[in-house]
Amino acid sequence: MPVCVTIDEVRDALRDAERPLGAVLTMGALHGGHLALVRRARAECKTVAATIYVNPTQFGDARDLDTYPRPMQDDLRVLRREGVDVVLVPSDAEIYPEGFASWVEPGRVAERLEGEHRPGHFRGVCTVVLKLFNILGPDVSYFGQKDAQQLLVIRKMAADLALPVDIVAVPTVRERDGLAMSSRNGNLGNDERRAARVLHRALTRASDLAADGVHDADALRNAVHATLAEEPLAQVDYVSIAHPETLEELHTLDGPALASLAVRIGQTRLIDNVTLLA
Ligand code: AMP
Repeated sequence: MPVCVTIDEVRDALRDAERPLGAVLTMGALHGGHLALVRRARAECKTVAATIYVNPTQFGDARDLDTYPRPMQDDLRVLRREGVDVVLVPSDAEIYPEGFASWVEPGRVAERLEGEHRPGHFRGVCTVVLKLFNILGPDVSYFGQKDAQQLLVIRKMAADLALPVDIVAVPTVRERDGLAMSSRNGNLGNDERRAARVLHRALTRASDLAADGVHDADALRNAVHATLAEEPLAQVDYVSIAHPETLEELHTLDGPALASLAVRIGQTRLIDNVTLLA
């Protein structure tokens, strides 16, 4: 499995790659969620390329960037074991060379939720994703439903800019107690890890209520807040019951809705979401 550091190296490695070429873009510290993407790509594509790059421009918070885990050797072992064909692990200078000045400015769907709480986040995400697409030239790329807004923003970018790549959504992979797998989970202490279960519990409460016929979005938001309030270590950033495509906040559910939240447990910020079926 070639591990490429430069754009030229990875382009060389993929020059005669059999199509379709599937891409899995990650920031490393690989877990079962990433593996679901890689396995889906492996099952559907003749060639699979993965990237590991902790993209500084999507981090607003320097501490979050500094503490982001980077177990590179373990990650490469996992990708090799999964039969990935080529890996790109670029340096910052390769992605953002001296004088870099061109950015993707995503639209309205990027302004809500994560965009509101992490200004510039999706500008950084879209810019690096477009650049990685241009470097690898994939036919298909796999993204996790765990980052539901990111998926919408990237789909919109791909449609608006006529990118020749299919964006495939992969369901969220969870720990046995419901916590969505995340590279940041490893930063949680024991008490925090226990407290983090409240995210999924709160979302499950919303989906149970919606399934029981509660279609008033405020009632659902209140139920989520009430569940989160049971956990003293949980500090809520936002709770949203929104249209699953526009992410506009809803008054009433008259179709599927996206219930999403961001919660801080100690110094670690976690996000999660579920689709509510009215
Ligand atoms: P990251 O390394 O956090 O940037 O994530 C890389 C890709 O893995 C993104 O498409 C994420 O949405 C996806 N991903 C992360 N966590 C999960 C999960 N628990 N289940 C499914 N996909 C995930």
